[in-house]
Amino acid sequence: MTTVERCDALVLGGGFAGLAAAIRLASLGREVTLIERHASLGGKAGEVRIDGFRFDTGPSVVTLPHVLEQPFTTLGKPFPVAWRALDPLARYRFASGRTLDVSRDVDATTAQLDAREARAYRTLLEEARILYEAAAPVFVHGPPPTLPELTRYGLRHGLRARPWARLPDLLRHHGAEGDVRDLFLRFATYFGADPFRAPAILHNIAWVELGLGVVAPVGGVGELVHAYGELARSLGVRMQLDTRVDALSPSPGRAPEVHVFVHPGSDAAHGVTYAPDVVVSTLDRERTLAMLGRSPRRAAEPSLSGMVLLLGVEGTHPDVMHHTLSMPARYEAEFEAMRKGEMPKDPTLYVSLSARSHPADAPDGMENWFVMANAPAQDTAGRGVDEAAYAERILALLEARGWLDRNAVRVQRTVGPAHLATLATRGAIYGQAPHSLLATLRPPQTVRGERHLRLAGGTVHPGGGIPLAVTSGWQAASDLAGVPVEA
Ligand SMILES: Cc1cc2nc3c(=O)[nH]c(=O)nc-3n(C[C@H](O)[C@H](O)[C@H](O)COP(=O)(O)OP(=O)(O)OC[C@H]3O[C@@H](n4cnc5c(N)ncnc54)[C@H](O)[C@@H]3O)c2cc1C
Repeated sequence: MTTVERCDALVLGGGFAGLAAAIRLASLGREVTLIERHASLGGKAGEVRIDGFRFDTGPSVVTLPHVLEQPFTTLGKPFPVAWRALDPLARYRFASGRTLDVSRDVDATTAQLDAREARAYRTLLEEARILYEAAAPVFVHGPPPTLPELTRYGLRHGLRARPWARLPDLLRHHGAEGDVRDLFLRFATYFGADPFRAPAILHNIAWVELGLGVVAPVGGVGELVHAYGELARSLGVRMQLDTRVDALSPSPGRAPEVHVFVHPGSDAAHGVTYAPDVVVSTLDRERTLAMLGRSPRRAAEPSLSGMVLLLGVEGTHPDVMHHTLSMPARYEAEFEAMRKGEMPKDPTLYVSLSARSHPADAPDGMENWFVMANAPAQDTAGRGVDEAAYAERILALLEARGWLDRNAVRVQRTVGPAHLATLATRGAIYGQAPHSLLATLRPPQTVRGERHLRLAGGTVHPGGGIPLAVTSGWQAASDLAGVPVEA
């Protein structure tokens, strides 16, 4: 039997955006209930512990730490997580056998390149800075831009952003070829884009990592989730975990009613309908709109999904840094395969060892390997790549590239598109693929006719991962509460 409960503020989703929205609403005096389908908080930023190993299952590259601190500083609370700045930022190993340690110190990076490559690297880094600094106030940190703001941006910076060009054209124009080209192309995947189809403006994100730097939260990203969860609870947010939102029904003059299923799959399963005063939904945008019966006629092209292998490995591998990338022989081939919905034969492999910065993440003499490869999103029928076969391919590649002896693997778990599809439509990490200029614009946080509902999260405010998910949740909640939205 379904009961109906009146309530004040409902936040749908317990990832970074939902937690930030809940904290903001609670700090403004609202009574907040947060609804999350999984039994733990974090969403895409999951965490697992197996046999003495601790793994983050999602984000590992943490940028813009001041943005993650902002909810705490605004509320006058100490930020409880320590940062460790990483340098080198990442180690790249190219198919040619070359190793490149990319540092915030540009001279240290370019000293490893030949003169032509070094020139291209410096020029492209500067270009990324200029594009980022122009775009950041309008598209990154500020509230969703108004038409006059978009027009002003277009008039001042439109030509520089090269709206007619693709990312590879921009890189070629500035003399990047081979390894340097591939290094800069890869940043487009932070938006879930196919770099070969991405608009040139996406080059700006390279500045965030290469120019502004990367930090490691001591204790991992899981520690950040924990800190946000504790702050929310301390402000009285009620956590309703293991509860799935199944439908939203418009309710004229009020926020939509939210129909949930509590403890699905257990004997205690039951339905509840909430009649809230206000709602912030951080379920991905497509999912929220579909629940409201606002599905577009044509499904949006999904961004990339991912295939993650969590490996508890015996022994130590000093060549593998906190962030290490193994680049394929032909970067194009990876995306040609994924355009057809296939797993790439020779994908880029990204390895993150949080135990490098936080030794407690692995038992003595062992390492916690997070290995990620791009994967195509599922098709509209929910079919995706064969995850067991892809995991096998990734392990075989790690061996073939001389990184890992699989006999040293003590623990193995896979987090692939099928799991990601429980978090986001078709397992697409960033929502709609930003392959056109229009698709790179931030979608609105409002829904026509729904004055008491706001949308937030990585699929509404993409391109910066967890810091922007936090900004998005915070701004959506401020806007809903009628408080000026600050940049
Ligand atoms: C493998 C991987 C690697 C990544 N790497 C990085 C990185 O290195 N750096 C970075 O900054 N970002 C990275 N990201 C992106 C980053 O994780 C996301 O942008 C960010 O966590 C999004 O937060 P969110 O709150 O918007 O969404 P989510 O974390 O997806 O939160 C949405 C929540 O809604 C819940 N939900 C969904 N449907 C329902 C429903 N029907 N009922 C109830 N609850 C529901 C989900 O369970 C989830 O908890 C990565 C993501 C993945 C998956």
